[in-house]
Amino acid sequence: MTTSPVADCLFCRIVAGEVPSTEVASSAGAYAFRDIDPKAPTHVLVVPRTHAPDLAALAVADPAGLAAVGELVGEVARAEGLEAYRTVFNTGAGAGQTVFHAHAHVIGGRDLGWPPG
Ligand code: 5GP
Ligand code: ZN
Repeated sequence: MTTSPVADCLFCRIVAGEVPSTEVASSAGAYAFRDIDPKAPTHVLVVPRTHAPDLAALAVADPAGLAAVGELVGEVARAEGLEAYRTVFNTGAGAGQTVFHAHAHVIGGRDLGWPPG
């Protein structure tokens, strides 16, 4: 199942090329671009081309889109030369989600402590 772009969704507009972004990798089902406010030397966002508000909703509405995100995360890591990296899906404003189009943060290139501070 796929979903239609949402007109006022920033990441739908980035996927459509209506808002400029710096591409890192791309596939039929997902798109990866640099975060505008990086929190690490590598900070890339990987989004499905279909709209879903968060990870869990994406898994239900478009499992193939979720798989495409996971595959592109691996491609980003290889392209950026990351042996270790963190993948984060914030869900809900209380967890820091500000854009309600599912996205993986791929963060790397610096020491990443666990558990996060
Ligand atoms: P969230 O806070 O929803 O987990 O992540 C949203 C991310 O989108 C933030 O890290 C923020 O810096 C990034 N972001 C917000 N607006 C833009 C934009 O216009 N372009 C890009 N490339 N990233 C953006
Ligand atoms: Zn969207």
